[in-house]
Amino acid sequence: MQSMSTTGIHHVSAVAGDPRENLRFYTEVLGLRLVKRTVNFDDTTTYHLYYGDETGSPGTALTFFPFEGTRAGRPGRGQAVATAFAVPAGSLDYWEDRLGESEATVHERRTRFDAAVLPFEDPDGQPLELVAADGDDSPIEPWTGGPVPAEYGIRGFFGVTLHSAEPDATANVLDVLGFQRVGSESEPDDGAERVRYAAAGDHATVVDVLHRGPPRGRPGVGTVHHVAFRAADEEEQLAWRDRLSDAGQFVTPQKDRQYFRSIYFREPGGILFEIATDGPGFDVDESVDELGSELRLPSWLEDDRERIESALPSLDGAVDDSTDAKATAADGGTGE
Ligand code: ZN
Repeated sequence: MQSMSTTGIHHVSAVAGDPRENLRFYTEVLGLRLVKRTVNFDDTTTYHLYYGDETGSPGTALTFFPFEGTRAGRPGRGQAVATAFAVPAGSLDYWEDRLGESEATVHERRTRFDAAVLPFEDPDGQPLELVAADGDDSPIEPWTGGPVPAEYGIRGFFGVTLHSAEPDATANVLDVLGFQRVGSESEPDDGAERVRYAAAGDHATVVDVLHRGPPRGRPGVGTVHHVAFRAADEEEQLAWRDRLSDAGQFVTPQKDRQYFRSIYFREPGGILFEIATDGPGFDVDESVDELGSELRLPSWLEDDRERIESALPSLDGAVDDSTDAKATAADGGTGE
């Protein structure tokens, strides 16, 4: 069989609590761009908020389903337990200060595979990391329309950590997806083995698999829902569907997610994986300048807009776009 490889992570989707708090944290603290404000197509009473670089390019988009009042989850076995963003080398002092002044819980810095890592949690307890990636070939530019100066800005994902219930079986699936094992090391807290795999792309390529026991993760607020990997187009996606089915995975039919096409399967370690096409992208229903500025619905939900909008909580006032944030951005932008 001809060898095939995904080029890396397409997006990560997670569960949040209060959508306004979520919007504020990811745009005003982390400095990501809200690139799409829509609803969960499978449950239109819930938002689906996408944060990323200027256009939400593949490998940058962290997305949330905010369920107000839903119980807190617990990251653990059978889940993706950390989502890591790439930041420039030398920027972690800035981030430690910035996150320390926010509602984030900031953990001690560590070194992992020779890179400095700053672990933290968002206000819902969602485990995140900043990885200081030097010698970076990433084509991703940080979003400069927010409060974080470009010299410190997030450049999409670095990778994800999976706490698989069946790490060897998960490794086999990663192998089917074209990931290569690049090394392993022990976790500083409990000695668990962390095995690193990388895809053949130029950004968002890393998947770490933890060989760690209980506790089992519990889905809910503050946990990852699924991890999506990239397919260049629908033809490649179809080839992935065949290849994964041949490898014993139960893969869903293709779903139209408006901004990409998706197939899903639950890998044997318990984690929901998706393969998403790179296109058509977030500018399919609004211009790049306008991304995220208003609620967008796919054509098959547009007739229901009034009912859908009235059932959603308001996001008004979540982001103060008049004063401090813009002033800080201006200062940061002209600091040279
Ligand atoms: Zn997805």
